Amino acid sequence: MSDLVFNRVAFIGIGLVGSSLAHVLRRDKLARSIVACARTQQTLDTVRELNLADEVTLDPAAAATGADLVVIAAPHSAYVEIGKRIGPVLAPGAILTDVGSVKGAAVRDLQPIVPPGVHLVPGHPVAGTEHSGPAAGFAEMFDGRWCILTPPPGTDPAATDRLKRLWESAGMKVEIMSAEHHDMVLAMTSHLPHAIAYTIVGTATDLEETLRSEVIKFSAGGFRDFTRIAASDPVMWRDVFLANRDAVLEILARFTEDLQALSRSIRWGEGDKLQDLFTRTREIRRGVIEAGQETPEPDFGRHRGG
Ligand code: NAP
Repeated sequence: MSDLVFNRVAFIGIGLVGSSLAHVLRRDKLARSIVACARTQQTLDTVRELNLADEVTLDPAAAATGADLVVIAAPHSAYVEIGKRIGPVLAPGAILTDVGSVKGAAVRDLQPIVPPGVHLVPGHPVAGTEHSGPAAGFAEMFDGRWCILTPPPGTDPAATDRLKRLWESAGMKVEIMSAEHHDMVLAMTSHLPHAIAYTIVGTATDLEETLRSEVIKFSAGGFRDFTRIAASDPVMWRDVFLANRDAVLEILARFTEDLQALSRSIRWGEGDKLQDLFTRTREIRRGVIEAGQETPEPDFGRHRGG
C-alpha cells in the first residue's frame, strides 16, 4: 500500500476535477507535496485559500519538474501546449495521466512528448457536476463512480496498477480499455445526451418571448433536467465534441435515424410501436439503477452529473 503515496503530485489545470482529486490526496495523505498550475493567478489564489496545494505556479514546466505523478486536468484544447511545456522536464519513472473526457485525443496529443522511462496512463474519472473551478471540487465526487484507464499498448502494467489503486482509494471502480472503445462508449452515454440537451435548450432559447417564459415557468415537465446538463462548462464541451468528432458523429447519425423513425410512428399513429419502444427503454432505466449508477428517486441524478 505504501507505494501508493507519491512524493510530488503536479496538477496542470486545477478546476472541478483536479481539485476534487487534490481533496482526496489531502484527505488520504497520498501525496507528500502537491503543486498546482493554472492559467490565471485568480485560480491559484483560490487553490491557496483552500489549501489544496503546497506550491502554485503559472508555469506547467515548473510544476512538472521533479514530480512522480503529473495529472493534466485542463480542457483538451490545452493538451498540445501543455505537452510541449512539460515533455522535456518529465522525470524518468514518473506517471503522466490526465482526467479528460476523450481518450483517443489524449493519447494522440501526449504520446509524442513522453520521454522514454515515463509512463503515460490516460484516465477518465466519469464523475462530475455542472460546476467549474477549484472551489467546486469535493473529495466525495468520485464515490461509487467508474474511472476508465486507457494505457496505450506496451505501458508498464505496474504504472497502470498504481494509478488504478489511486482511483480506487478515491472511491472509484476502475476499468481498463482501449482509448477507441472508451470514446465510442462515452459518445453514447455522455456526449450524445449533452448534444441533445444543448440542442433542446438552444431551441427553447430561440422561441419568441412569451412562449420562452412559459417554458421556463413550467420547466418541471422534463425540460429542467436538460437545462442542468446544458449548463455544463461551454469550453470543456466545445473541446469534447471536437476531440471526439468521429465517434460523436457516428452516434449522432444513429440517433437521427431513430428520431426519424419515432417521428414517423407519431405521424402515422403507430401506438404499438411507441409503446413497445417506451417499454424497452423503461427496462434500461431499471438496469441503470440495478447497476448502482443511479437511485430510484426522481431527481435524475441532478446532484451527481457524469
Ligand atoms: P475546469 O473546472 O474548467 O478547470 C480547468 C482548469 O484547467 C482550470 O484550472 C484552468 O485554469 C486550467 N487550464 C486551462 N487551460 C490551461 C493551460 N493552458 N495550462 C494550464 N492550465 C490550464 O474544468 P474541469 O471540469 O475540471 O475539467 C477538466 C478536464 O476534466 C477536462 O478535460 C474535462 O473534459 C474533464 N472532465 C470533466 C468532468 C466534469 O464533469 N466537469 C468530468 C470528467 C472529466 P484557469 O482557471 O486559471 O483558467
